[in-house]
Amino acid sequence: MKRRLKKEQTKLIYIFLFTSFLFTKAQHTVLKNLNLLDVINGKTITGKAISIQNGVITQIDELAKIEITKSTKLIDLENQFVSPGLYDMHLHLPHHHKLDTFLNTILAAGVTNVRIMYSEEDVVKMKKQIDSKTIKPTIYYPYILTDSVDLNQPTELMRVLRETKSKGLQFIKLYSAQTRNDFSETTFLNFMKAANASEITVCGHYPGKIKYPVVAQSGFKSIEHLAVLPNQTDSLLTNYIELTKLNQLYTCPTLDWFNIAYLIPYPKGYLSRVTLYNAPKHYFTKWQKQNKKNAEDFSIDSLKKYQPKFKMAFEKRLTVLKKLHDAGCLLIVGGESELEYQLEGFNVYEEMMIWKKAGIPDAEILKSATYIPSTFFKEQNQYGSIELGKIAQLAIFSKNPLTNIENIKTIHATFLNNTLLLKKDLLK
Ligand SMILES: [Zn+2]
Repeated sequence: MKRRLKKEQTKLIYIFLFTSFLFTKAQHTVLKNLNLLDVINGKTITGKAISIQNGVITQIDELAKIEITKSTKLIDLENQFVSPGLYDMHLHLPHHHKLDTFLNTILAAGVTNVRIMYSEEDVVKMKKQIDSKTIKPTIYYPYILTDSVDLNQPTELMRVLRETKSKGLQFIKLYSAQTRNDFSETTFLNFMKAANASEITVCGHYPGKIKYPVVAQSGFKSIEHLAVLPNQTDSLLTNYIELTKLNQLYTCPTLDWFNIAYLIPYPKGYLSRVTLYNAPKHYFTKWQKQNKKNAEDFSIDSLKKYQPKFKMAFEKRLTVLKKLHDAGCLLIVGGESELEYQLEGFNVYEEMMIWKKAGIPDAEILKSATYIPSTFFKEQNQYGSIELGKIAQLAIFSKNPLTNIENIKTIHATFLNNTLLLKKDLLK
């Protein structure tokens, strides 16, 4: 079974290579009959076509005004909805033997830009393996900074910064930086000062012992999992949210991780997850089995006792997210898929559904999965919206996610490297 799968993947890669070869000379593509999603202003623009030269958007116009030559590849999108490719701002790399399926699944979900926040194996080795592939999402790799590094030692601190750059990694992820006794406010601030001076982005887990105002004003770029916010009094929360906004600190709440980890949908809620709309059946069977085991391990009695508390804590997270949104903070969607009923790439859909439940408007949710994350990496001139001069990495949906974010599940194809990749070909 596995061998057959491998053979099919190889075949797929050859098709990609052949297609890219065919169009190396004539890389002019025109996408016609589409509805364009302006994610910055939350508007749908009808009756346009997009002209793409060598992977870059060169014209957005009525089809009649676009020059079509013999070598132009003309693709009819039959009135579907075209969004900039989605970002998944919190994803873990799998073991290397699962890499091909992982990358294809991400692309099948219309996710074209991925911030990696953890890796099962050496990040640099994985990066090399991914770099050798023709069709892949744009990936941002972390230096994963664990507690084994003593940042009080100037030589160690400098080594981390040096290696981040020399290994071609885009940022430093602070990972479990709360357990070291010698990780003081001075240590943290010295580290942030050196990283800022080297123009290296630092983000990730909340450095546990450091006060929120200190973290917010240090240049730390994004906080994962809402950190300490859900545990504050109302007045402190208001104060911290204000600081989050003022210092342009991004928030990546990864709410679906909590949703699944704390068995919130148990037992029937899983069946309404949007992931099931797209996930191949074999995933469902595997998830059902694992989920049953989790509940048994936890014991049904203790689940009955704790679930209301878990649900309350989860609701609190939704409230915090809504407050961050209402205050105008920078929010980014991250799927953090590693549990049952979660699927890489597609899990940003689940995250989006939870944000909707929290009361965030549909168009704002889509913006947090496209334009806002592009500003995180200061790449809003290349990605994040469909505009002239930007790279044509696009997600194509049958129904409009701007008017109802649940329509995100109607993903049909992803446009990347001048190629239309159909979901049905990528997802196995
Ligand atoms: Zn994570």
